Amino acid sequence: MRVSKSFIPTLRDDPAGAEAVSHRLMLRAGLIRQLAAGIYSMLPLGYRVLRKVEAIVREEMEAIGAQEFLLPALHPAELWKESGRWDSIGGEMFRLRDRKDTEMCLGMTHEEVFTAIARDEIRSYKQLPQTWYQIQTKFRDEARPKSGVLRSRQFTMKDSYSFDVDAAGLDKSFDAHAEAYKRIFSRCGIASVPVEASSGAMGGSESVEFMAVSDAGEDWIVQCDGCGYAANLEKAQSAAAVVEDQGDTAALEKFPTPGVRTIEDLVSFDGGATAERQIKTLVYVVDDEPVLLLLRGDDELNEVKAMDALGMQALRPAHPGEIRKLLGADPGSLGAVGVTNAKIYADAMLRGCNGMTTGANENDFHLRHVDVERDIAKIQWVDLRSTREGEACVACGKPLRVCKSIEVGHIFKLGLRYSEALGAKIQGADGKEVPLVMGSYGIGIERIMAAAIEAHHDENGIIWPQSIAPYKVVVAAVKMKDAKQAEAVEKIYQDCIDAGFDVMMDERDERPGVKFKDADLIGIPFRIVVGARALEKGNVEFFVRATGEASEIPLDQVISELKKRMI
Ligand code: ATP
Ligand code: MG
Repeated sequence: MRVSKSFIPTLRDDPAGAEAVSHRLMLRAGLIRQLAAGIYSMLPLGYRVLRKVEAIVREEMEAIGAQEFLLPALHPAELWKESGRWDSIGGEMFRLRDRKDTEMCLGMTHEEVFTAIARDEIRSYKQLPQTWYQIQTKFRDEARPKSGVLRSRQFTMKDSYSFDVDAAGLDKSFDAHAEAYKRIFSRCGIASVPVEASSGAMGGSESVEFMAVSDAGEDWIVQCDGCGYAANLEKAQSAAAVVEDQGDTAALEKFPTPGVRTIEDLVSFDGGATAERQIKTLVYVVDDEPVLLLLRGDDELNEVKAMDALGMQALRPAHPGEIRKLLGADPGSLGAVGVTNAKIYADAMLRGCNGMTTGANENDFHLRHVDVERDIAKIQWVDLRSTREGEACVACGKPLRVCKSIEVGHIFKLGLRYSEALGAKIQGADGKEVPLVMGSYGIGIERIMAAAIEAHHDENGIIWPQSIAPYKVVVAAVKMKDAKQAEAVEKIYQDCIDAGFDVMMDERDERPGVKFKDADLIGIPFRIVVGARALEKGNVEFFVRATGEASEIPLDQVISELKKRMI
């Protein structure tokens, strides 16, 4: 590829509003442009990377026996009504109507469509197992599109689906995917951490996310260096210290707390309580019903844990008006003692606690000597709290680490969730009808690109892993007007093409600094520079982007040197 004839609109300066490094560099290196919020065009260089990632994904999927499909992006609402997700999924689904006023949606995932095919076509256990996949555009009207292609509203996903006759078969399909995913991420230069995850809107029994540790991520994961335990914060457990029994059997006592509104206020209030001895009372609305969520004062609610615990896919904090109507007080003075008009869910850390303090449901009053199980009616015990850095690992007791990460892949044991809803049954070995046992597996292609950049860059730009670099080699002359240099550049370029390398020739009549800056920015792994002085000795400069290593090598050894270094 000749740079002078190509379209690589690099930007010298950081574009406004792009915070994540990968977002900034993808814009600056001319890989992508934004069309609308969360919607991006892939420019030629970006599209080359995307196709390289796809090729790796394809190879690894084929290696586990998966067969490639291409399903429609436009779906009839009907099918999503059968699975129940037309109603359970909210604003994230793009919905539309056709000219006959039939409800449709744009596919955000394809469990329904693949299950429908399996239902109509697979009859017997003898046809199993099957693993089907596609690499296809997904549409999700994300509440907060963010960080360029890391979270966009239209993106490319490799999604696959396994169909087995029983749970043991599913385990095998699931494990095969997990191994394939590890290979995919490592081949794309991403150090991935598999973590236990919440299955959320997808349903099913078990799921594993693949995380790339990065500050640009939106997920928090908990990791134990001692035993390797790793889980999304939405799922993570710890052996957090339990507040010992205070032996406080005194009767409840209401006391005035003028101006106290927060946990901290009550900590510093004379006669107040430490955060661990307070009950935090949160009011949420689930399916139009208010619920109380109780945590220890020093703990934070994890909303996904709450949704999983309540078996719901959506919940929201109650509005001040709703809270006043329910409890007769404002936030800061709320509590669950004596409450009978809402379901009460309490975090397991509160179990057995006495000598606690909580709001009295009367502004500027609190209750002390609260014995949680004695004084609060009909508690449902659940896991609501976020695990904190330094808490002990449940498995080995070592302190846990909490870090930010990008979810690059997610695999689910769906079990019978979709086959039962859609009636996808087959004849088992004993002649009886059984529902298909399913798994589903997703990888974001653009998200891999961005995660690779997050992991491989420096102040000068992207440092592509060789496997997904848009071009592996760039050849440039210091001075294109010098006929000898131009001739040498042309020769190396041709030799690279003949050797089968992805090569670009920067034969622009630009200052060398400009050309090198661009090459650094777009992150081409190897750069060959032809300059007058070295050329007189028959040499060229060989530069390695990843290490900064620069050496002079004979012109006629360029191809063998490249071959040696290519992986
Ligand atoms: P997240 O929690 O980040 O929203 P998700 O759990 O909704 O992800 P899945 O439905 O499991 O994601 O999708 C499979 C994969 O698709 C994800 O692991 C991720 O790599 C990619 N992906 C999901 N949503 C987006 C998005 N909005 N933009 C880009 N890639 C995405
Ligand atoms: Mg999502």
